[in-house]
Amino acid sequence: MNHPLIDRLAADDRVRLFSSLQDAGQSPYYRTMHSSSGATSNVQGVDRIMLGSNNYLGLANHPQVIEATTEAVRRFGSASTGSRLLNGTMSLHEELEAEIADWFGTEDALCFSTGYQTNLGTLAALVGGRDAVVIDEFAHASLRDGLRMARTSVHPFRHNDLSALEEALVAARGESPDQILVVVDSLYSMEGSLAPLTGVADLAREFGAALMVDEAHAMGLYGPTRRGRVDETGTVDAVDVTMASFSKSSASCGGFITGSAELVTGLRVTARPMIFSTSSVPAATASSLASIRLMRTDEGARRTDAVRRNSILLRTELRGKGIECDSGLPDDSWSPIVPVPVGDDLRAAHTWNLLLEAGVYTGVAVHPAVPAAGAILRLCVTADHTEEQLVGAAVSIAHALAATRLDAAS
Ligand code: PMP
Repeated sequence: MNHPLIDRLAADDRVRLFSSLQDAGQSPYYRTMHSSSGATSNVQGVDRIMLGSNNYLGLANHPQVIEATTEAVRRFGSASTGSRLLNGTMSLHEELEAEIADWFGTEDALCFSTGYQTNLGTLAALVGGRDAVVIDEFAHASLRDGLRMARTSVHPFRHNDLSALEEALVAARGESPDQILVVVDSLYSMEGSLAPLTGVADLAREFGAALMVDEAHAMGLYGPTRRGRVDETGTVDAVDVTMASFSKSSASCGGFITGSAELVTGLRVTARPMIFSTSSVPAATASSLASIRLMRTDEGARRTDAVRRNSILLRTELRGKGIECDSGLPDDSWSPIVPVPVGDDLRAAHTWNLLLEAGVYTGVAVHPAVPAAGAILRLCVTADHTEEQLVGAAVSIAHALAATRLDAAS
């Protein structure tokens, strides 16, 4: 017999949907991987084309990253055994922070154990009850959760809509807050859409607001030095707080904030996940460092070009089959995340299963990760995918969508 609290949890709509799909062997979630995440991965015992990982640059299997990680474990062991504040600061953490500050041209950087904790801890430390925060409605959950922890006044605005941002800023200013902070992702993780950063930066400046940009998915892929979309759009001077995660292109686990010395020192002693959680383990810290170093080399540039080419190829193949997947991207831009709209949650699960059988693993996002009836297959390309794999995957996707469309009509 469960306590009623647990029964209530089990009755949650999301739990019921998950359980019914799981019972029917159709759930796309919690599938078991038996290999590293490359252009193909072994999913439940079978090698399949992997279009569902954030390993954009393909560094998760890179010999240099693996070597640096192994060496760090030999030297520092498996654990860090404490929070950064106490015994959990290793020379590896400091090397990683120095590398990031050097790359971003900032005064300092601070690394957290996950990207989620980075956003949570930073926002809760930075803003409070007398401030107002203006945030894109599709901003990552970690940012929105950080604002809950901060107990601040929140003004969400329509996704990527600059006039909606302006209206939200006017409303925020109307509250006479102590300070206003604008928060956006630079590349949205589900939709693959790109924030209009120049317009966002102009409005933030006009209203005297601070600006925080989450570059989790963009770091390593955009801009002359490949730091991300702030670099690409030349908005560096307008951004007060830059965040990114090590779990995407840098093929590890963790996150960081970079900016002024005062920002970083402030967070070092006030961000709760920094103080009350164990620091990232040597393996993760070393793989982040090795990945970042690689990203800065000519090989990093070649890998970025390959991701761009592959993303354009996959989109072109899908569009050629009448599948719309544009995320509202400007013609001269691109995104490693290719969303395929499916609509209904159950249709998304069915399509996903057909694709798995056809040897293609994709991500899938259903409500509440995306708006209701806005389920998508989330496809991510990497530098290591071959043309043959992507062309073949597009054919399988078109077949699976056609099959589930017929089902829906019958
Ligand atoms: N920001 C964005 C935009 C993300 O997509 C994610 C996770 N996917 C995070 C932050 C959290 O990063 P992590 O997975 O490293 O905790």
